[in-house]
This record gives sequence, C-alpha cells and structure tokens, in this order.
Amino acid sequence: MTVTSHDAPRSAQLFDRASSVIPGGVNSPVRAFGSVGGTPRFIASAKGSTLTDVDGKDYVDLVCSWGPMILGHAHPAVVEAVRSAALGGLSFGAPTEGEIELAELIVDRTSVEQVRLVNSGTEATMSAVRLARGFSGRTKIVKFAGCYHGHVDALLAEAGSGLATFALPTSPGVTGAQSSDTIVLPYNDLAAVEQVFAANPGEIACVITEAAAGNMGAVAPLPGFNEGLRRLCTEHGALLVMDEVMTGFRVSRSGWYGVDGVAGDLTTFGKVMSGGLPAAAFGGRADVMGHLAPAGPVYQAGTLSGNPVAVAAGLASLKAADQDVYDALERNAATLGRLLGDALHAAGVRHQVQFAGTMVSVFFADRPVTNYAEAKASDTWRYPAFFHTLLSRGVYAPPSAFEAWFVSAALDDAAFDRIAEAAPAAAAAAAAA
Ligand code: PMP
Repeated sequence: MTVTSHDAPRSAQLFDRASSVIPGGVNSPVRAFGSVGGTPRFIASAKGSTLTDVDGKDYVDLVCSWGPMILGHAHPAVVEAVRSAALGGLSFGAPTEGEIELAELIVDRTSVEQVRLVNSGTEATMSAVRLARGFSGRTKIVKFAGCYHGHVDALLAEAGSGLATFALPTSPGVTGAQSSDTIVLPYNDLAAVEQVFAANPGEIACVITEAAAGNMGAVAPLPGFNEGLRRLCTEHGALLVMDEVMTGFRVSRSGWYGVDGVAGDLTTFGKVMSGGLPAAAFGGRADVMGHLAPAGPVYQAGTLSGNPVAVAAGLASLKAADQDVYDALERNAATLGRLLGDALHAAGVRHQVQFAGTMVSVFFADRPVTNYAEAKASDTWRYPAFFHTLLSRGVYAPPSAFEAWFVSAALDDAAFDRIAEAAPAAAAAAAAA
C-alpha cells in the first residue's frame, strides 16, 4: 500500500528536521513506523483516551505510551501530584518518604519483599540479572525468543519488540563475551528448559521470562508454563526472574502475579508504576535483595533513582487505579478484541485476536500463536494496510505487528464508536493487502 504524508504535513516536516539531529528521527526505534512505513505522528498533547498530533488531528490511543497510561492521559490526580511534587524540588540525591511509600505499595500488592527503584525497565532487568548472578555465583542465563527485556546487552538475543519489528536477531555492538552466557529457548516450551537445566548442571543463574509475553504481540503463557519454570528453577537452584514491566499493575492490581500467583525470586516493574514518568523497579526475596549495595556486594546505583516527581506520579497512578479502573480495562480489552475480530471475520481474513490479560493482539494466522516462530510465520505483511487504514480514520494502533495493543480505562463510547467505524475498512484493507 502507498503511504503518503498528505494528512500529516507538520509531522512530516518535524520528522525531516528530527532526522538530521536524532538517529532515525526518533528516540526509540518502534516510534519510527519502520515496518509499517509512512510518517510517524508527532504528538502535541493528549487527554483521556485521545492523542492530538501537531497537525491537529485526533486519534483514539491504543498504545498508551506502550503501557503506562492505564488511567488515560493527563489524569487530574496524577497531574496534580506531579505539580505539587515539582513545587517541592525536582531531585535531591537523598532519600525521601515517597520512595518508601511506593516501595511499600509494591511490596503490599506483589510477591516481592524488598524493592529498589530505578529509571527504566532496561535498568530493572539489567540489575536483576546482575543480582541473580552475584547471588548465585553462576554465569549462564536463560531467556525466551520473542521476549524483550529492554536493551540489555545479554538480553538482546532473539528479542521481541523493536528487534522483531526490524527483524534483527541481535545487535552489533554486543560482544560474544556479553551474549555467550545467554541461552535462548522457545517460549512456552518447558521440555526445552528441562533439557537445558540437565545439560548445564549448577551453571544457570536465572531464567528470565515475561510474566505474560507482550513483545512478540500478546502471547500468554500456556497453562502450567510459569508454574513449570518455578518448579524447575527451585529444583536446580536457579532464580526465576519474572519481568512484569509490561504486565505489572496493568493486567491486575498485582500484575500477572495476581493472575496466576507464580512468584519470581526477583520481579521487574516499570510503565504503570511510573504513571508515565521515567521510573521502574526490581524487587524480590529479601535474602536475595540483601546482596545489593550498600547492604551487600552487588553494585547498583542511580543519580535520579527514586526521583520525587516520578515517585509522586507513580504513587498517584497506582492509588487512582481502583477496582473500577481494572474492571474498565477488562471490559475495554474485550470490546476492542471483539470489534477487531468481528471486522476481520466479516472481511474473511484469517486471524487470531489474542489476549494476555488485558493486553490485546491481532495475528494474521489461523491458529493461536504460542511462540515467536509462530508469530513470525503469521501474515505480518497484512499489518501495514490494517494499521494505516485505522490511523487515517483516527485510531492509533501500535505501528508493528509484533506489539501488544494497550487499552486505558478512559476509552469511552465515542472512542469505541470511532474504532467500530474504522475497523471494517481496516479489515478490508488487510484482506486486500
Ligand atoms: N521488559 C519488558 C517486558 C518490556 O516490555 C520493556 C519495554 N517495552 C522493558 C523490559 C524495557 O523497559 P524500558 O523501555 O523502560 O527500558
């Protein structure tokens, strides 16, 4: 399909300008519309479930800043918390009471006993892996193909998200030494994990997994998969690192742990717990976390970690997300899935609408997708036409076939009317692709 920028002239101008001073014109690759083509929309503002671009066009937001904005944009309680925190000073490099409150809230809702705040999901997983190695004295780690854990050197192999979008098996700049202790296995394949433990006795520091995968599209763990990882890790003295950066505080008030009750020895968080500002966290068993500096020898630090404004945004978001919000997320994910599925069905396109909790994905495949190989084998070439038809009708879906769609509690009848109007045309475009 030909993609023109005639309906986004100001975005096109800014993208041009950005491209001369920012590599690829964006500060994170999937924003660039790399696999769908066309002009990325530069956003001027957002409110509730609506994004407004610099050309003055409105979109129903189904990306939600890649997860954080469960309350919708510019939620009054969050904005007020940020304003009042900012008035009290932006950063001190010294501890504050708010950090304790946020840590207590995370400990209260999840399986972790202690938590350390950081600035991004990448930092959280990087630190969790270092801690797992430092605690266990082992070097090897196991990850799953199609899972993305941030741009940590050791975790980029066969990663999802932008690496899937741009079809990159790994990244230049990651040395053999950095990746040779990483074992990559197919997601949802417990037998493969069992074999790897048998072949590497006493050598595996941790298994890291997305609690429910969202970075190859939404692919939930098959029944028994997370439980099996838990059992195998315990049997073999390895730590289980549950990456809940995407699922945490989104799929339930306790994240995916609230869905299947499988506790990692370490768990990573980000996105929702930051309210949209840069904050993330990792936590876990107190005996493991006790190995972290300054309590223990495993070093980890951050000038802006626990930043008072980010902490205020996170606390306000988590407090505002009451049961009504989680009920709305469930309802909205189901409605979105139904509207997309009905339209694709009517257009006669083979497809799967998949859910991982309240994360949603469309795969152009005739069987449920359970791992990365199946996700890649789907008819991803239909996605650009689907995406651009939605976009031109005011619906902002993720610009990649390998990403989850994120709903907010702010989606209202008008938003769903717009999705319902756009979906049949998008499905027809996908069918004709
Ligand atoms: N882990 C998971 C499961 C993620 O989805 C992401 C980001 N999409 C990360 C880690 C990395 O987080 P960040 O982009 O904040 O570094």
